[in-house]
Amino acid sequence: MPITFDNSYARLPERFFALTPPTPVKAPRLVKLNRPLAAELGLDADWLESPEGVAMLAGNAIAAGSTPISTAYAGHQFGNFVPQLGDGRAILLGEVLDRAGSRRDIQLKGAGRTRYSRGGDGRAALGPVMREYLVSEAMAALGIPTTRSLAFVLTGEHVLRDEPLPGAILTRVAASHIRIGTFQFFATRQDAEALRQLADHAIARHYPAAAEAANPHLALFEAVIAAQAELVVRWLLVGFIHGVMNTDNMSIAGETIDYGPCAFLDAYDPATVFSSIDAGGRYAYGNQPSIALWNLTRLAEAMLPLLGADTDAAVEAAQSALAAFAPRYRAAYDAGIARKLGLAVVEEADVTLGVEFLELLGRHGSDFTLTFRQLSRLHAGQADTAPLRTALGDDPTLDDWLERWRARSAGTAPGAMLAVNPAYIPRNHRIEAAIVAAQERDDFAPFEELHAVLANPFEERPEFAAYENPPEPHERVRATFCGT
Ligand code: AMP
Ligand code: MG
Repeated sequence: MPITFDNSYARLPERFFALTPPTPVKAPRLVKLNRPLAAELGLDADWLESPEGVAMLAGNAIAAGSTPISTAYAGHQFGNFVPQLGDGRAILLGEVLDRAGSRRDIQLKGAGRTRYSRGGDGRAALGPVMREYLVSEAMAALGIPTTRSLAFVLTGEHVLRDEPLPGAILTRVAASHIRIGTFQFFATRQDAEALRQLADHAIARHYPAAAEAANPHLALFEAVIAAQAELVVRWLLVGFIHGVMNTDNMSIAGETIDYGPCAFLDAYDPATVFSSIDAGGRYAYGNQPSIALWNLTRLAEAMLPLLGADTDAAVEAAQSALAAFAPRYRAAYDAGIARKLGLAVVEEADVTLGVEFLELLGRHGSDFTLTFRQLSRLHAGQADTAPLRTALGDDPTLDDWLERWRARSAGTAPGAMLAVNPAYIPRNHRIEAAIVAAQERDDFAPFEELHAVLANPFEERPEFAAYENPPEPHERVRATFCGT
């Protein structure tokens, strides 16, 4: 049974998008279909695997009811405003209502040139597509708001990057693809009418409660601030580094979106950067909260005409809304670290315990994920202190810290820490190995195994034990590259 599409974004005024049929590819081959996600979306997985379905996933056929569009947006890239970006290699096929009644975008990434491609080829290489598939699905399994990956196909064509690489198309699923940059697109054109329509669309779609507020557009802005603060905290708590937090890569719905040179921390160091294009460290792990606030301030500027009766009132409303970010972020972060340490409530002394533990990790270059997991095993009575001691370089202050931690965490259920500190994260060297096997030998077995490991990040399986480990020095990946 083919997909029943709806297209609410395509019913917005024409200046929101360009009608863009995908460009067909030579020899599509379906490599991966996400059957559980298909079921969640109410889609027929057998149809998606059929020649007709694969033709749709490759952009070789337009399914009935689909109105393919590429959307317009602007954005600050590394701090510099670009008034016109837009979907340069992504094409929105349409929306579906999932089993829970939520509207979800179905988008092809890498489906050919669009009005917004500028110099680009509109295509995606296999490596970045595999990275996005693995990391976005891992994030979902970790319970972090994210776009999802429904499928990917090989195109049978090559894309030219530094060298010719196999081309691929990812089918991405999102609550929507409205970005901070979408608001900036209309703001910079002083198109107040479009801004209002965009805001109303976002409210109806993502924050219906805002419609009941005295100032619905201000309530929308406040809801986006809350969602972004929560999201960044979730990233920090698992060691995720987005890598390109440009305003065009920040979703209004509060999902993690646009996986490019993203990566997870191995050794704990807030200054960690993987992205090859982030020489200044603007988007380093520890900078993500302040960048989120910077981006939200740009959203405030774009939404200003909507936020108050006159400019003064709007600025004041925006400022007081933005002032809520830091305390909200701080409270969520402290509570999250306390949960990771097995502490039921957060007191001042608990915040200190967290800070000290992270200092220990930083001092010894200990692995963020593995060390929290080792502490969780200790708490659950599954291990003694030996592995933790080794991980923390036999630090002389550890015993004192453990004593205070034990006193505070004793009342917490034994399994509680194991349920919040993952054993498995998508480590860079594993992703890289999966990509190399696929690219060089057409071998997708490492991809499939890694995907299986990441599907249950909190459940240890003896046969997957090696996946817990950080890279050996020779396996370490120092830089990740953009999907472009
Ligand atoms: P990103 O940083 O990957 O989110 O991309 C920033 C901008 O570049 C967006 O407008 C993308 O649509 C565009 N872009 C990225 N890769 C390509 C490509 N291969 N062809 C055309 N446009 C691209
Ligand atoms: Mg982007």
